[in-house]
Amino acid sequence: MRIDDILRSGTTLSFEYFPPKTPEAMEAFSAAYDDLAQLNPDFTSVTYGALGSTRGTTEAIVNRLNAERPFPTMPHLTCIGHTRDELTALITSYRDAGVENILALAGDPPSDGSDAGDFIYAAELIELIRSIGDFAVGVAAFPETHPRSTSREEERRLLAAKLELADFGMTQFFWEAEHYVRMRDELDALGSDTPLIPGVMPFVSVPGTRRMSAMNGTHIPADLEARLAQVDGDPEATRALGIDVAVQLSAELLEEGVPGLHLYSMNRAASVREVTDRLGLRAAA
Ligand SMILES: Cc1cc2nc3c(=O)[nH]c(=O)nc-3n(C[C@H](O)[C@H](O)[C@H](O)COP(=O)(O)OP(=O)(O)OC[C@H]3O[C@@H](n4cnc5c(N)ncnc54)[C@H](O)[C@@H]3O)c2cc1C
Repeated sequence: MRIDDILRSGTTLSFEYFPPKTPEAMEAFSAAYDDLAQLNPDFTSVTYGALGSTRGTTEAIVNRLNAERPFPTMPHLTCIGHTRDELTALITSYRDAGVENILALAGDPPSDGSDAGDFIYAAELIELIRSIGDFAVGVAAFPETHPRSTSREEERRLLAAKLELADFGMTQFFWEAEHYVRMRDELDALGSDTPLIPGVMPFVSVPGTRRMSAMNGTHIPADLEARLAQVDGDPEATRALGIDVAVQLSAELLEEGVPGLHLYSMNRAASVREVTDRLGLRAAA
């Protein structure tokens, strides 16, 4: 099924996973995936290790899950670091395996300055995907603007143009609903009405949360920073706080009428389950 069609029939619930690196990690992934599959998500997605060793793992997992499950699994695909021919081969292989959805991303350029490949921007990848198959194409959006952005206005203009080429967008994680609402209003003013699904992360680690927030240009508000400081070093209290924050944020976003919720599972089921339980989302299909 195409995700744009699913979005037309109501608010979606979806989960994100990453490709495991070891046999033990693959077992943990499968256990979490099986557990969360019982919640009947509308779709799932698997990230792509730009420039990394797990690129083939994403393809293998996505093809297997699409064959086994009643709901679609969407591969993330980054263009930086690939030649046009490599991307053409991978997208063709997804098409031939019956994959109907792709999240088209730029990826981050190599920090050592080595060859970044034939494409720079996600918009170029969308064009290639469209030329190969009839996929539903998603793209990334950054509510607090992309870390490489130099102008908010220009970033929003480019995002509106990219969303025009795509079927839906998915956001980076953020800690305050107002960032999503402001982005939505700015896109609205530019005439963009492509559905934009917020990404919500139930965090499990204080240093990890601070590191990833800094890396992605995600602002940690003072009250959350104070709560993080209180639970630092206590894994169970950190996990409980991650759930509280995700539940509160998701409830506010649902109140705003978002088209769906995309929960970052980090290949663990427990926190996502508690978030969906507390929000009263998704019983048996
Ligand atoms: C939901 C989501 C999922 C992600 N999944 C992955 C993943 O699986 N693997 C991974 O490696 N990374 C992933 N990322 C990270 C992403 O690849 C990086 O953040 C990357 O730097 C930006 O990707 P993009 O697709 O938004 O890029 P683009 O849309 O290409 O934008 C990148 C920057 O360039 C600017 N720009 C765009 N077009 C132009 C133009 N024509 N001229 C000048 N400037 C331009 C934009 O304003 C922006 O600042 C994900 C991000 C999100 C939000």
